[in-house]
Amino acid sequence: MNDYLANLDRALKQLPEIKGSGERFVIPEPKLLTEGRTTVLENFASIADKLNREQGHIFKFLLRELGTAGKIDGSRGIFQKRITSGVITELINAYVKEYVTCSECGRPDTHLMKSERVLTLRCDACGAHRPVTKRRAVIVKEDALTEGESYDVRIDAVGSKGDGIAKKDKYTIYVPGVVKGDTVKIKIKKITGNLAFADFIEKI
Ligand SMILES: [Zn+2]
Repeated sequence: MNDYLANLDRALKQLPEIKGSGERFVIPEPKLLTEGRTTVLENFASIADKLNREQGHIFKFLLRELGTAGKIDGSRGIFQKRITSGVITELINAYVKEYVTCSECGRPDTHLMKSERVLTLRCDACGAHRPVTKRRAVIVKEDALTEGESYDVRIDAVGSKGDGIAKKDKYTIYVPGVVKGDTVKIKIKKITGNLAFADFIEKI
């Protein structure tokens, strides 16, 4: 072996070993099922697995942030509230930021420790640790629109295909059969990202 390679080899051996799974940290997308006023998070257990935290700890956090009741049912989490996947994703991300990822190196290979009544997040990768701060409530803005619900909107414009267009929060809503300037009651049929498609119910 030439000197360069020997040196490189030696240098590599002297690097601190980085522990941790090494696999990419991808949180499973929440699979939600809404039944009436109840929302079922079908893959709660696999999300908890990925986060490598106790189900009860995550679930309590979610209930507190959502201000609702619920229970863990096998691998599912059940909430007594209608929740959109955007809100759940936001909350899980908030949980991960607070209770999972190392603020020094950004890795998720950490564990929670309680010492002298202070909850501490310790990083297995870089050794850093920090107290887990008492949570201030994450401000969750409920998505303004829900499929199947009715809303009053003002038609501000008419699109190229003749549908009326209304804006509500982040949404652009398409409503057929209306005229610009109308204020109408609509029922949301479908929401895709920031776009919503609605049926015209009546003019107000
Ligand atoms: Zn770290």
